[in-house]
Amino acid sequence: MRHLTIADGAREMGLDPRALPIRRGHFGGEPWTEDMRHQIEGALAIQAYDNHGLSEVIGPGVSGECPERPGMHIQEDHFLVEYLDPDTLEPVPEEGELVITPLTREAMPRLRYRSRDIARLYREPCPCGRTTIRMGRIKGRTDDMLIIRGVNVFPSQIEEALLRVEGTTPHYLIEVSRPGTLDEPHVKVEMHSEIFSDRMDRLQTLCERISREIQSVTGIRAHGDLVEPRSLERFTAKTKRVLDRRELG
Ligand SMILES: [Zn+2]
Repeated sequence: MRHLTIADGAREMGLDPRALPIRRGHFGGEPWTEDMRHQIEGALAIQAYDNHGLSEVIGPGVSGECPERPGMHIQEDHFLVEYLDPDTLEPVPEEGELVITPLTREAMPRLRYRSRDIARLYREPCPCGRTTIRMGRIKGRTDDMLIIRGVNVFPSQIEEALLRVEGTTPHYLIEVSRPGTLDEPHVKVEMHSEIFSDRMDRLQTLCERISREIQSVTGIRAHGDLVEPRSLERFTAKTKRVLDRRELG
């Protein structure tokens, strides 16, 4: 998280991060919890506001919190935001996929861009006096995409990386937790039965190779964990590739 870099950098220079002349910060790009907000506010002695945006539409600023912080006000004078059921594409009253049409963007217009982000909608008046619709935090994605340390990661990319590593099978599970403030991704991979009885040092090399290939495809560092052949659950319908243990409320 960027706030830790600021706080650590300040301490290295012998400065008290809480004494920096910063009063407010707008944070976006990766999901956070109320606990993390409090940590940021405590570490930097600032007020931290949530902000939502998509690089495909504008970057930060599609919506943002006001000082009352009851959800993020959508900048409706610049964006037409629809809330749709991701399967039927029919409008839903309260919670759905955000479909965004920028109204004032020039040169590269977008029409009804499907964000794949699911959020709740609030229409009641805000105490701050602004009249725009507000949205809650992103609750999930309509596809299997994960945001790990601010980077978009798709299971198909993990598959691509594993294909490059001999001795592994296409049976894997991406497990993400957040023991502290940073995401901790692990990829459990079933190995071939002939590798399973192999020497420890060879298995260790294989794990490192898996991490390296995942990093070269996705840009993130993940631990590769080899598991016994046929130890991961099999699914008859849609295979579950992701186990997200982060509690992002
Ligand atoms: Zn407000």
